[in-house]
Amino acid sequence: MRFTFRQIESFPGVTQADWQSWAWQFRNGLSTHEQFGRYFRLTESESEAFKRNPGFQIRSTPYYAMLASRDDVKDPVRRMIVPTALELRRDGQQVSDPLGERKHSPTERIVHRYPDRVLFLVTDQCSLYCRYCLRKHFTGQDQAFVGSKDYEKALAYIRAAPGVREVILSGGDPLTLGDGRIERVLSDLRAIEHVEIIRVGSRMPVVCPMRITDDLVAIFKKHKPVYFMTHFNHPAELSADAALALEKLVDKGVPVYNQMVLLNGINNHAAIVQALSRRLLYLRVKPYYMFQCDPSEGSEHFRTPVEESLQIQRELWGRLSGLAMPNLSLDIPGGGGKVGMVPDFETSNTVEARSYEGWDGVKGVYSAPEGASALPADLDTYLEEWNQIVQQPYGRG
Ligand code: SF4
Repeated sequence: MRFTFRQIESFPGVTQADWQSWAWQFRNGLSTHEQFGRYFRLTESESEAFKRNPGFQIRSTPYYAMLASRDDVKDPVRRMIVPTALELRRDGQQVSDPLGERKHSPTERIVHRYPDRVLFLVTDQCSLYCRYCLRKHFTGQDQAFVGSKDYEKALAYIRAAPGVREVILSGGDPLTLGDGRIERVLSDLRAIEHVEIIRVGSRMPVVCPMRITDDLVAIFKKHKPVYFMTHFNHPAELSADAALALEKLVDKGVPVYNQMVLLNGINNHAAIVQALSRRLLYLRVKPYYMFQCDPSEGSEHFRTPVEESLQIQRELWGRLSGLAMPNLSLDIPGGGGKVGMVPDFETSNTVEARSYEGWDGVKGVYSAPEGASALPADLDTYLEEWNQIVQQPYGRG
């Protein structure tokens, strides 16, 4: 980890060992107007947001604040952590629970929207509160780790739902919990036979890469398959420290995916998405989703029009390796689930043929195949074996 004069100057008394400790980073987060004012030269708009309280916690790790510009209000990292008066607006489409998670919550801390997977919100705490967060109705209320009664109820719900094959640990940021708690949650989930895949969603590699310790990675490895979903939005976040954290995970066999959010004035340009995606892929992290920003309260100024996002994706289509291409998606407000969006390359279609114009203007026709379907007439018998496999949990050998 790098340790620079700027760090020593900004956080008097800090030692290199402190800086490298995620617990120190967590304990010494910037959260008040005064603390931010000591580190950033705040504008009137930023100070107004602190004074009038935007209704969503403000917090950054010292590490992440150090990636931001002290003076430049257009700096992308700064815009993700320092609130402005724009957050106080309540015009446009702003709702407290844009994904309709409350109505899909059968028990505290569980969101069950899709048949085969559930979200388990193990904590509401984050080490940094992203100003555009989609879950402001839950995140940052200082409830921390789920209480023991709700925890048991959440496990009981998953146990009683054999169709659930995947559990996504989210929050808040699950990695604000200590290793002991993470170990316990993963062991409890692994004891449920039908849970095959565990996903951990965390922004820690971005905002506090020192959290990715050897001990933590060993826990993930022990409870494999654990998929790690992280959340880089801008290439400026991919520091040498972040790259080391990602390498630690991938080297130990933990697959890592990235979910980015398109944010107005921060990363809504094809060149920025391309730079981020190529660097992530080089680090063996698969760019997975590129989300439209959800219309949570105080996020109106971060949203980009869908047409603009589609245009970004069209520009990237031929220029970015398919491996590096994130899927452009949005969550239907009110809880309709995700929809994928791709640029429309089709110029006409009939039953016999469909015509296309590719990313660089080359045209072509795809004709319907001659002949009938080759699937056997007794389709039910033919598929029986596969249907049985789909129904059975893999179990663990
Ligand atoms: S890390 Fe995730 S949950 Fe936490 S504030 Fe950022 S977007 Fe919201």
